[in-house]
Amino acid sequence: MNSSRLFTLKEARIGNNCPVCYSNDSLELTFKQKLTESKFYKAITDEIVSELRCLNCEEQIFPIQWTDDIERVVDYHKRGLNMKAKSMKLKPVSGVLIALGIVVVILVILLVTGVFSI
Ligand SMILES: [Zn+2]
Repeated sequence: MNSSRLFTLKEARIGNNCPVCYSNDSLELTFKQKLTESKFYKAITDEIVSELRCLNCEEQIFPIQWTDDIERVVDYHKRGLNMKAKSMKLKPVSGVLIALGIVVVILVILLVTGVFSI
């Protein structure tokens, strides 16, 4: 079973006008990075999602509504992101399975080559 979730990397207030209510001090930009997790491993992907919300009208501002100015500011913040390196971490249960796998392979090799017989 795989699940993925987003964790927040950075939140910033930006001074652009909201395209919905035109308020100029209520846009909040959030960058999130995607993490996938299964029973055996936990992986940080390099997928970044940016969300823009207006705290005044409480609307989420989708990229299609962004003005050129908003895009420039989002790009600027994106460049300064300190994103987590893409990585994958095995959970202890995987280590046990891999170790068992190696033992089985060694036994099979020993049996096949006749070094060891039952
Ligand atoms: Zn607004």
